[in-house]
Amino acid sequence: MTVPHPPIVPVVVAVDGPAGSGKSSVSKEVASRLGFGFLDTGAAYRALAWHAEASGVDTDDAASVVSCLPSFAYRIGTDPAGYAVHVGEIDVTNAIRDPAISAVVSRVARVPEVRAHLIELFRAIMVAEPRPGIVVEGRDITTVVAPDAPVRILLTAAEDVRIARRSAELVGDQALAAGEQLHRRDEADSKVVDFMTAAEGVTTVDSTALDFEQTVDAVIGVIRAARPEAVQEHRDVP
Ligand code: C5P
Repeated sequence: MTVPHPPIVPVVVAVDGPAGSGKSSVSKEVASRLGFGFLDTGAAYRALAWHAEASGVDTDDAASVVSCLPSFAYRIGTDPAGYAVHVGEIDVTNAIRDPAISAVVSRVARVPEVRAHLIELFRAIMVAEPRPGIVVEGRDITTVVAPDAPVRILLTAAEDVRIARRSAELVGDQALAAGEQLHRRDEADSKVVDFMTAAEGVTTVDSTALDFEQTVDAVIGVIRAARPEAVQEHRDVP
């Protein structure tokens, strides 16, 4: 007789923070070192903004954005090494990073029906994760998507540092525009969810004075403190 065993629940590491805080790159690296999956929730909002634009929809009109949801065939993997985003058969991994998408994504993300739809999607991806854990990053993961996650982190950095990192490879007007866009996007997004202050039980990692490696180590340190077994098991993973 086979004895049924309970499903293995992946350890959820919830990471929130503003634009340019390094959430995506840090979360991806942490996931890969721990042998965990990685979910970039911002990519889903960006992919929906891309889909709305491609469908010729006015992203300022909430009802029109909602009308795009049934045809939004979104796929994202959770492998930190082979991360790709698809809408239908189209690979939009690079297209969703275009400044034109960054400029409209907040309008799409503020629509309550959109948030409800994507939150369900994120939760389904989280429970289906085959690895022992998953790092999920965004703006409302610690508070709305996974408030019961065993590890919850707010990754912050001073705005001038975030702008400098975001525009590091740009010059002149382009760098200025990137900085202004980051500021505007945070302002718009903050009206929908609070990702500037840590909710109760959420650990703040301030990366203002840290480089990438130090930030990755700090995040792994928070995970180790909460779930030592999750970190030790995968210590040898490069
Ligand atoms: O993380 P990223 O900057 O790529 O996110 C793009 C946009 O998606 C944000 O500016 C925000 O409007 C939206 N977003 C959100 N909730 C999340 C993740 C992203 O509203 N959990």
